[in-house]
Amino acid sequence: MARPVCIVGTGYVGMASLIGLAELGWTVHGYDIIPERIRKLRHGVAPYREAGIDELLRKHIDAGRIHFFDTLDAAARDADLVIVAVGTPAREDGSADLSAVYAAVDGLSKVSFSAWPTVCIRSTVPPGTSDDLADLVDGWGELIFGPEFLREGSAVYDFLHPDRIVVGCTSTAAAVPYVRLFESLQKPVVFTSRCNAEMIKCCSNAFLALKISFANEIANLCDAVGATSDDVLRGIGYDKRIGPEFLRPGIGFGGPCFEKDVKSIAHVAGTHSVGHELFAATLRVNEAQPMRVLRMLEDEVGDLAGLTVGVWGLAFKAGTEDVRDSLAVRVVEMLSARGAYTVAYDPAVRVAALPAGSRLVQSPLEAADADVLLVLTDWPEFAAVHPELYARSVRRGFVIDGRNVLDGARVASAGLKYRGIGRSLDTTNTPVALALAQ
Ligand code: NAD
Repeated sequence: MARPVCIVGTGYVGMASLIGLAELGWTVHGYDIIPERIRKLRHGVAPYREAGIDELLRKHIDAGRIHFFDTLDAAARDADLVIVAVGTPAREDGSADLSAVYAAVDGLSKVSFSAWPTVCIRSTVPPGTSDDLADLVDGWGELIFGPEFLREGSAVYDFLHPDRIVVGCTSTAAAVPYVRLFESLQKPVVFTSRCNAEMIKCCSNAFLALKISFANEIANLCDAVGATSDDVLRGIGYDKRIGPEFLRPGIGFGGPCFEKDVKSIAHVAGTHSVGHELFAATLRVNEAQPMRVLRMLEDEVGDLAGLTVGVWGLAFKAGTEDVRDSLAVRVVEMLSARGAYTVAYDPAVRVAALPAGSRLVQSPLEAADADVLLVLTDWPEFAAVHPELYARSVRRGFVIDGRNVLDGARVASAGLKYRGIGRSLDTTNTPVALALAQ
């Protein structure tokens, strides 16, 4: 019988790995330093919400393919492959905080393994990290780097449908226990050095972030010249050399990956005195984008002090409840700093640390009982709320669609003033624009 695979860390990546590998027929052991998380997981309760995840978790627990353990030793000792999927947040100076990865590998060095294990670092780490970590594994195992490319909201699906498997290793033999996991997916495998694999992951995220900042800069220009970014970006994205993905303007990219990964790779470039203008510009455009929404609001209503702002969306993107580094939350904080109060609704977020005076409500219409309405996350269900239902409750009759998810013409025909990002002031343009989104 095949040995179990051990997953260290049961966050978004750890859970997708546990469930994805169980779906592929492997036996998987999960461990996390948060005992409460393990206790809940044993009862089939995932640490975050994603469509279908609890059902899949219970299915595989019942089938005996997923097991959770209270100690790293118990979870890892029978495994010949350990996947490390712990967090690597940004430090103040932009560099990645690698303490959890080092702690996990240190913990593994004390495990009484019954076989020579391969340790696969799946956390996103800056180039050079895995070679350093390999020194800590020397003498008791092998160390490889196998990046994860999933998106929150479709984490398990993405795990099972990767475009490629990247594996950074010094010998293909060390990578065999890892690569065989994905054999049935029949995807291209890129065998390369650990440092190259780390660069592939960091720079893939940097490029995707760059595309978003590019789309935002184009959208801002569209606003200035009276063009419609939906059509402009659609026209650009049809070019196969460019592609439509991530060419969507909005309030910018947030979440636990893009910002910290671009900061991390920019920091590495800085320490090597290598130019990193594109990374820096990507971040600058992104930091400025939430301000556009505030300026649009100030242009319309003037001073924001005392204003009640209805907010649709707090998660950093649709399909997740994750508010880590969410620009929606950042906008709420900026509003509060200007004396405005927020009434926020998000289909998935149940708890969020909002500034004093702001509150979370249970329905989009409750949130729309406000002076103005702001859409800050790209949940498609917001477009399904008929504008007639909130046309009267939005007292100043002004809607800013910071994610271009609403049908601007429909909003306008309900008697509200609509502003999107790069959609120009002429709302008659938006039906064409919406064809792009579908
Ligand atoms: P997360 O914060 O959701 O989960 C990390 C988990 O690791 C937590 O449950 C934490 O308790 C646990 N942990 C921390 N230290 C530990 C230790 N020493 N032993 C055992 N468990 C420990 O993080 P995440 O979003 O899953 O991201 C994990 C890594 O994967 C990061 O490097 C991230 O950049 C990368 N990544 C994330 C995504 C994403 O969309 N979230 C996508 C691709 C890659």
